[in-house]
Amino acid sequence: MEGGCLCGKIRFTSSVEPKSVVNCHCNNCKRSVGAAYITWAVFQKDCISFNITPPTHTAPNRAVRTFCDTCGTSIAYWHPNRESVIDITVGCLDDPEKCPPERNIWTKKRLSWIEDPGDIPDHLIYP
Ligand SMILES: [Zn+2]
Ligand SMILES: [Zn+2]
Repeated sequence: MEGGCLCGKIRFTSSVEPKSVVNCHCNNCKRSVGAAYITWAVFQKDCISFNITPPTHTAPNRAVRTFCDTCGTSIAYWHPNRESVIDITVGCLDDPEKCPPERNIWTKKRLSWIEDPGDIPDHLIYP
C-alpha cells in the first residue's frame, strides 16, 4: 500500500494492510486537518516507511502529527500511549477505496450536520 502528500514530496509505503480504519470526530483532528472529521487507517508502526522524515507537530497532549511543509497535507498521527501504531490519513493513500471505515470514534464531538449512515458502530470517545 502506498501514498503521499498532495505535492508528492512525502511518500510512504506499507508492507501490510491496515489493522483497522476509523472515522475520528474529535476536535483536534477537525482542527488539524481543517475538515469535519478524518478517516484514519491504523497501521503497525514498523510496517510504514517514509521516503524522507516528515516534519512533525507535537500537541500539549503529546500527540504527534506529521505534515508536508511544502503543500500542508496532513499525513500521520501517533501517540506515545499507542506506541506500536501509526494512523495514516486515508485521503493520502493512492487507493483510498480499499479502506472503508469500520467504526466512528469520538462521536460525542460529531458535528450535527454529519449524516450518520448507521451501518458502522459509534464510540462516544476513544474506545
Ligand atoms: Zn507535499
Ligand atoms: Zn481525532
